[in-house]
Amino acid sequence: MKDYVKLRTDTKWSNEGSLPQEYVMNDSLHHLLDGVDAIAVQGYDENRQVIYWNKGSEVLYGYTSKEAVGKKLEDLILLEKMKNPVIAGIKNWLNNGVKIPAEELTLRGKDGTKVFVYSNHVMLTNQYNKKQIYCIDINLTDLKNVEAQAEQKEHMLAATFAVIPDLFFLMKVDGTIIDYHASNKINLYVSPEDFIGKSMAEVLPSEVADKFNSNLAKIITQKGVIRFEYELVLPHGITYFEARIIYLADNKQIIAIIRDITEQHQAAESIKMHAYYDTLTLLPNRFLALDRLSQMLNEAERNNGKTAVLFLDLDDFKKVNDSLGHEVGDQLLVESAKRLTKIVRKEDTVGRLGGDEFIILLRGLTDDHNALAVAENLLKSFRNPFEIDSRELILTLSIGIAIYPENGRDTYELLRNADTAMYKAKSLGRNTYSFFTKEMNVNMLRRLEIEQQMRGALERGEFEVYYQPQIDAINKQIIGAEALLRWYNPALGNVTPDEFIPIAEHTGLIIPIGQFVLQQALSFLNFWQKEQAISLRIAVNLSPRQFRDTELLNFIETSLLEANIPANRLELEITEGVLMIGQTYIDDALVRLHKLGVKLSMDDFGTGYSSLSYLRQYAFDILKIDRSFINGITSKKGDCDLVKATIAMAHSLGLKVVAEGVETKAQCEQLNQFGCDYLQGYYFSKPITAKQLLNFFVKF
Ligand code: C2E
Ligand code: MG
Ligand code: MG
Repeated sequence: MKDYVKLRTDTKWSNEGSLPQEYVMNDSLHHLLDGVDAIAVQGYDENRQVIYWNKGSEVLYGYTSKEAVGKKLEDLILLEKMKNPVIAGIKNWLNNGVKIPAEELTLRGKDGTKVFVYSNHVMLTNQYNKKQIYCIDINLTDLKNVEAQAEQKEHMLAATFAVIPDLFFLMKVDGTIIDYHASNKINLYVSPEDFIGKSMAEVLPSEVADKFNSNLAKIITQKGVIRFEYELVLPHGITYFEARIIYLADNKQIIAIIRDITEQHQAAESIKMHAYYDTLTLLPNRFLALDRLSQMLNEAERNNGKTAVLFLDLDDFKKVNDSLGHEVGDQLLVESAKRLTKIVRKEDTVGRLGGDEFIILLRGLTDDHNALAVAENLLKSFRNPFEIDSRELILTLSIGIAIYPENGRDTYELLRNADTAMYKAKSLGRNTYSFFTKEMNVNMLRRLEIEQQMRGALERGEFEVYYQPQIDAINKQIIGAEALLRWYNPALGNVTPDEFIPIAEHTGLIIPIGQFVLQQALSFLNFWQKEQAISLRIAVNLSPRQFRDTELLNFIETSLLEANIPANRLELEITEGVLMIGQTYIDDALVRLHKLGVKLSMDDFGTGYSSLSYLRQYAFDILKIDRSFINGITSKKGDCDLVKATIAMAHSLGLKVVAEGVETKAQCEQLNQFGCDYLQGYYFSKPITAKQLLNFFVKF
């Protein structure tokens, strides 16, 4: 390229009178440039004085041609810092022919504002051999403004990206990653140099890549946003992400915005956990367990298969809780849950129904995997003691088993029947299992019927208190009687106390019923006593449940007052079951009863745990040997020895002994020989009505 072009300027330019002759500007090219206002053209002489200033320059720089012509370049449009370099550049050009290249410049307008131009420079020599420099400036101000705005937007975007924790990926339609923003690089699966130019599919694990690929393919064909979730194993742990992808149709690009939703995920998980799992043992709760059961039943129905429901209850767990505290109880539950889980297969379910009740669902029973074997293994797994707080605890299980389809067709029927079977296992002595049988259901229905009929029975006067005489073993005189309740119901007929008392306990009806017995017995005693020469007493049975009645003591006290009976004429019979509950309210009640002067007798001694320590620990006055031992004293040596030893032991503790269930003369004589104090049984009399008792005489 030539350094400069020769411009022919042979025509004189009349109206520039102030210019010397050699800078003639009235040629056709200058005329042309005069009319152009989009391009600014200025001419300078060798001393940088303006010789030409077209319309465009007037518009761009604000100086009129008149104002500009004759002034020096550096005094018009150069910024201070540019003056020296520009002057030096022009001199270098003039003297050494080093052209000033076209360039972007920031110049100054008349009003001081900055003017951005793209400036081209041409040097020419006219016919007078004078060098002239022409600058042709294109206004870049608008462009600059747009650029500045774009830059500002870019800054804003960068600042925004910096504070948003999301990851942004810009991709081609084929999924190739072109660009990214990540304020938090720890969530990047691989480093940027390993993913730029690659597709998500190449970078991410295959199952996540598949999700991306299918959604990227979808988004190209539809408007709006597609949302999906995925998870990645990152160095700082499993991280859950939500991806939102948008298709920019104009650019044929896809933006993916990736958000770390681990926290929400965990919160949701924890809500789910609370709704479906037991927080203590982390086992499925009742809701989830039953849901799984119904799924298993559907499956079993489809495959003509079998499913077993095992209902588990920890034996005497209440006792552990009451005596060792809830913390130990909780630990025991957690450890039990672990043992149960170990026994079953992965496809089975162990759930906690609540309290000390668990459920086990055995899916797809086979010969190898049968409910009996599992139940036995479960019991076996509890043989080793639990070690809690360096204390060894033995715990046993009772298991009830119901099998689909023979023992029930839906979840509730199976659960109910497994529960019934579990009760059977308890009644068999615990630490065992029992399969559901139809008879159990019959028992269950009977229980339900009794429960129904018992409501209102008291009001309808269906109960009557019978009395069984108690005889002094030595002088064969009647010393009192045990009050025993009888119930005749029109629908059920006679129901025995062994059957209805446990149900009354269960429903709580034992409280009003027990009050009825006590009042009846005391008012009868009042009446009976008046007719007798010797002082008599009445024994009344108390159920464990009655001790939970906070009014029990007040009630006994006022009943004694109302009937005008001294406290020591009332005997309360309790079984060891009451003491085994181990609650302080029971201890307190027993102490208060003793203080009141009421006699306490331990009923059915020998049938329960028969702990001698109870006899020492509580203020018992009387011990009643259970009739099952009395029955055998004349035929079984074991029973005989046991009864003899019990009487001796009771006497050594200062207790009187009543033998229950005396049916024969031989038994009477044997007991007499052993020094038994009182006798009670069919040999003397069955339980009889109050009226009959008034006419009762001991036949011996
Ligand atoms: P228990 O307190 O041990 O009462 C003795 C039971 O043995 C009575 O049965 C009585 O009829 C029976 N019995 C007495 N002598 C003989 C005998 O020589 N041979 C035989 N085979 N049995 C004899 P019952 O009346 O059926 O009462 C059963 C249980 O029901 C009682 O056992 C007692 O635990 C409970 N019970 C009865 N009435 C009441 C009550 O009013 N309140 C409470 N809480 N429980 C009661
Ligand atoms: Mg009794
Ligand atoms: Mg008894």
